Amino acid sequence: MGETTGAATGADLRLTSVTKRFGDFTAVDDLDLVVPQGQFFALLGPSGCGKTTTLRMVAGLEEPTSGSITIGEQDITRLKPYRRPVNTVFQSYALFPHLDIFENVAFGLRRRGVKDVKQQVGEMLELVELGSFAKRRPRQLSGGQQQRVALARALINRPQVLLLDEPLGALDLKLRRQMQIELKRIQTEVRTTFVHVTHDQEEAMTMADTIAVMHDGVIEQMGAPAELYDQPATTFVSNFLGQSNLVRAEVVGPSGEDVVVDVHGTKVGAPVARARRTTGTVWVGVRPEKVVLLPDGGAREEGANHLDGGVVVDVSYTGVSTQYLVRMPWGQELAVFEQNSGAGGRVQRGERVCLSWRAEHTFLLDADEDAHAGDESYAALVGADGGGAAG
Ligand code: ATP
Repeated sequence: MGETTGAATGADLRLTSVTKRFGDFTAVDDLDLVVPQGQFFALLGPSGCGKTTTLRMVAGLEEPTSGSITIGEQDITRLKPYRRPVNTVFQSYALFPHLDIFENVAFGLRRRGVKDVKQQVGEMLELVELGSFAKRRPRQLSGGQQQRVALARALINRPQVLLLDEPLGALDLKLRRQMQIELKRIQTEVRTTFVHVTHDQEEAMTMADTIAVMHDGVIEQMGAPAELYDQPATTFVSNFLGQSNLVRAEVVGPSGEDVVVDVHGTKVGAPVARARRTTGTVWVGVRPEKVVLLPDGGAREEGANHLDGGVVVDVSYTGVSTQYLVRMPWGQELAVFEQNSGAGGRVQRGERVCLSWRAEHTFLLDADEDAHAGDESYAALVGADGGGAAG
């Protein structure tokens, strides 16, 4: 299957200094991006960050104000959309309602004058596991099945790059999760470059080899999902991709491989390699699931950071985990996620606790950045309640 549908070799997608302006407004700002051939690549960002505009420029539906777009050796910047080795799958499947599934998938081949379409269409329907649905009409399929037909209809053209514009946005949560696994399997099988646009961080993390996090028309950070999650470079990435605790601190100085910082009177260590700043004021960052709750003022653990004097102000049980909010002596509330492994009892609301985490899980960010950048739940709260503000 991979051989019949695989893309040509050496066809990296490259955007060089691509800018798109709509009047005075810059939607995409001097963007440089290379998507290696065969990757599952996600452009991730909140609404309005410029990801769809970027995708539309690759598709040829929008012309860059400046810059160039190439696939392999071919400059496609000003090519008509249908001349590009690119296909797009949209959120609205846009299947032909009057054609059956077989003919929907065969459409691209027939338009190119291919006579014998049976084998290729059959293979494509097998790939998306709809072999037995060939004679049905689109309206006789579920949303997820229709989206798979749309995928087959695009892939049969053997594009070098397949663009996916929020393709799972119309599906309910459970189906979306199933389709994420499906999409990943299909991409692994065909090895076509997929560029997937989404605002859903979990979706990007589940499927992509590489994620580019976009914000205000620029890429804030790009890398493998685990790399972005473990080592965010900006407050925006640290909040948009999962949740972070960010606490204001002053750098004291280096100590071996670590930078030591002062967090409201307590010394905390972070690896130099995970520090975006090593002088002055910083945000000390740690993910909630990296933190454990210990008795306040209890035993210290070697190689760990400790912050005493917390009071548990909220306990929410979510089944898989328990999520605690702990108010620190300086008034800030920090989040702690504890897996419900069954070991140990749950900490109660009102208990005094010490927050502890391994120094290697600490990251340091530039304190000039907004601690709430990319935090959508905070943005929704502001105005009603400023609680949980970084201190
Ligand atoms: P969403 O997820 O909501 O689609 P996005 O990150 O994909 O968001 P874009 O659609 O790329 O964002 O839009 C980026 C910015 O450019 C937005 O502020 C949008 O209003 C603006 N924009 C997009 N298309 C046009 C247009 N044709 N004319 C003027 N402004 C536009």
